[in-house]
Parts: sequence; structure tokens; C-alpha cells
Amino acid sequence: MKQSVVKIENLVKRYGDLIALDHFSLDIREGEIFGLLGPNGSGKTTTINCLLALLSFDKGDIEIFGKKMTPTSYEIKQEIGIIMQNVAVFDELTVYENIDYFCGLYISDREKRKQYVEEAIQFVGLDEFRKFRPKKLSGGLLRRLNIACGIAHKPKLIILDEPTVAVDPQSRNRILEGIAELNRNGATVIYTSHYMEEVEQLCTRIAIMDRGRKIAEGTTDELKRMICNTETITIEALALTDEIVKTVSELPHVYDTAYDGTKFTVFCSGGKHNLLRILGVLQEHSVSIGRVFSERPTLNDVFLEITGKALRDKGE
Ligand code: ADP
Ligand code: MG
Repeated sequence: MKQSVVKIENLVKRYGDLIALDHFSLDIREGEIFGLLGPNGSGKTTTINCLLALLSFDKGDIEIFGKKMTPTSYEIKQEIGIIMQNVAVFDELTVYENIDYFCGLYISDREKRKQYVEEAIQFVGLDEFRKFRPKKLSGGLLRRLNIACGIAHKPKLIILDEPTVAVDPQSRNRILEGIAELNRNGATVIYTSHYMEEVEQLCTRIAIMDRGRKIAEGTTDELKRMICNTETITIEALALTDEIVKTVSELPHVYDTAYDGTKFTVFCSGGKHNLLRILGVLQEHSVSIGRVFSERPTLNDVFLEITGKALRDKGE
């Protein structure tokens, strides 16, 4: 079994009357890219802040690299790279000076630091901006600077809190590829996001959070197997009769249907030939159909089925 990197047991954090973390536990092992996925307000940032001993908590235990984490655990902190949700860099320092400053908190050897800062600049692709001050950078470039500041000292554990919010697609892809590369080079990664596609693409294991609780945990495939829905089939068809809808809803593996007069949606659980069977029924009744879609479940479906609400924010 791989070495434990982060172990959180029964963490409880209250802000006044609000329970932000409700007996929350995690066990993250060396080499993982662990995703904390949850809607805004579910407790991701609170978890990270407790983990780093930046925030006191009401109950629970936290160990990092097998040792208890406290505000003065400098040896542990040295091995952690943290990229906060809100960009934290100095406006009066250039790109180079910012990275040098943060790297200098951990690396005192000047030659070594120079090399590390250089590597971090290349890594995030900010070479041509090295003399720029943060205010002159676009949102995406600023995020990349934030990341460079967090990783320049080559930490063993890298924690990124929603690093792609309000980032252009080019920077977003670069950030996601960069994280995968850091992981290939040996870092364990904790990645929080409310974008399920990113988490699904990047993470080896995922905990889904809602209202301070862990509602599910596993690989993407494991999470999807937890739910009943395995396939959602949508068929454009006009004027379906009640009889046809009923016949389809009685097919094996079909557990729900919806028809709005133009779009016929069939929710299936298990089964390999759902689409063929449904099309067969429509053909028997000589229904002419438009486009046909078959979708596999997403992590949103997992969230929806467990909590009864959508993970994705409205308007996104
Ligand atoms: P996330 O990072 O998943 O969006 P947070 O950890 O920021 O969630 O917040 C979890 C809950 O705690 C939310 O309901 C939020 O409003 C609340 N919260 C966060 N920080 C504070 C604070 N400093 N004081 C009071 N409530 C807070
Ligand atoms: Mg947050």
C-alpha cells in the first residue's frame, strides 16, 4: 500500500451556527491526483484551510505524511505547495521576483533557487512575461503565475483550490496538462473544483462533497457505477402516442421516460442494446424520427442521483 499523504478523520468545522464540515474524512495516498468536487459552498476551501492549519477546527484529526499537522509544522509545510483560490501575489514585484520570493521561503541556496525559479517560469510558460508586474497580466496568465509561486520549490504535495475559475480555455488546458505533468514527476495532487468535466479528466480518485459532507468517493468509473442511470437516450420525434411511450417505458432496463412533444428522453439502467430496442418500437409504430443522442452518465448525474439536485451552477 502506498504511503499516506493526507489523512483527515471526522473533521468538524463550524462558523457560528453553520456546520461547514460535518464529520468529513479523507485518505489520500502517494501519487494520486485527488479531486474534491462540490458546488460552491460545499466546504472545499474550508477543508484546504484546515488541512494547512490556517484555520482552527472543532473536532477531528489531520495527518500529513503520517505526522500530525499543526500551525508550526514547518517541516511538513516545506513539502507542500499551495495554490489558493484567490490569487495571492505581490503587485509591486515582477513575475520573476514573485516566484523568487515564494521559492525563497523554502529554498535558501541562491544558485539552486535561481534554477528552480527558472524551471517554474518555463513550466507555466511565462518566459516572455518575466519582467511584467501582475497587473499587466491577463486572468489566465495571473493564474499561471499563482501556480508557479506555489510549485517552484518542488513540493511533494501540491494543493490547488479552483485554479481554473474565470480562466480562458488556452490557459485552462495548459494548467490541467501542467498538473498532470507535476504528478507524473512524482507529486501528489489535491485538486478542488466545481467543474465536473475537469475533475473527471484529471483526477485518479474523487470525493464528491455537498454541505460539508462527503456524499461519494471513488474513481470516475466507480462513482458512475454507484448510480442507477447508465445511459440517457434522447430521440427527436413528433406526435408520439401515449401507447408508444408506455411500450418503451416497459422495455427491459428502462426505468423512466419523459416526452415533451418533440423530444423523447429515455433513462436506462444497465443493458447493452437499449437504443436498438427503443428504435425497434418506434419503427414498429412507423414513427419518423429526427436526431438521436445517447449519453453516458456524467459526474453531474452521480451528484443529481445522490442529492436530488444538479451539481452544475445555473448559468454556467
Ligand atoms: P467551497 O470552497 O466549497 O465553495 P467554503 O469552504 O468556502 O466552500 O464554504 C463552506 C461554507 O462555509 C459555506 O456555506 C460558506 O458560506 C461558509 N463559510 C466559509 N468561510 C466562512 C467564514 N469565514 N465565515 C462564515 N462562514 C463561512
Ligand atoms: Mg472554495
